Amino acid sequence: MQNILTVDVEDWYQGNARIPYQDAWRFESRIEKSVDQVLGILDEYETQATFFILGHLAESHGQVVKQIQNHGHEIATHGYSHQLIFKQKPAEFAEELYRSIALCEDLTGRAVMGHRASNWSVTSQSLWALDLLKKAGLRYDSSVYPVRTGYFGISGRSREPHILDNGLIEVPPSTVSVANYTIPFAGGFFLRTLPYGLVEWAVRRVNAEGHPAVVYLHPWELDQDQPKNLPVPFIDQFIHYHNLDTTEAKLRRLCSQFSFGTVMETIAL
Ligand SMILES: [Zn+2]
Repeated sequence: MQNILTVDVEDWYQGNARIPYQDAWRFESRIEKSVDQVLGILDEYETQATFFILGHLAESHGQVVKQIQNHGHEIATHGYSHQLIFKQKPAEFAEELYRSIALCEDLTGRAVMGHRASNWSVTSQSLWALDLLKKAGLRYDSSVYPVRTGYFGISGRSREPHILDNGLIEVPPSTVSVANYTIPFAGGFFLRTLPYGLVEWAVRRVNAEGHPAVVYLHPWELDQDQPKNLPVPFIDQFIHYHNLDTTEAKLRRLCSQFSFGTVMETIAL
């Protein structure tokens, strides 16, 4: 079965809502090197992925977006500013959404079909965003974590790709269901924390249920030389830096054991 590989493209300091995008000038940019690293690995395994691009990054590093496209990957949007959607007004979200889509489309000459929210911030307080995504002409969204954590997610939502009432296709990050518990494993902190054997077991289990696994990562999760002084509270630092040295090996093992593709080709939209 073909699974789905996704990459949220943001620089190492851009994934935390406590750091406003206007503060980018304070930080060393490491995006080119870390995207090169991801592209090199995916080339090795002849694997295509969907790259959700942060609009602010597309504005400052357009050549990175073109390079990703030149390697044959799908370009989608990760919004513009990485602010949490449930803290935004609908009009503000819509303005940033249209801006981020236009930035990617101008760089690639191709229509953007999908969206992923900053920090999975389509929650029960911001479900209105799904109608705005549809209105913007997108085909799919990949933002609703089907388990409630301290930061994001909605318990009880469908765990598999599914069509919403408004026609938009929702492609949730994969979770595994064990004894009535829904357990995340497919990316970020969860992928870095869990032993590879458990991740492999979970992908097989999702596939056995008849669904593609939806895996996600960030280029900075492969960058072990990044500064270790992200100016955020301790718990956020822990989540950001924990087990960074395991990401590359896990990505390589996933790519060697399983088949992955983009959202668009896997869901056959
Ligand atoms: Zn992000």
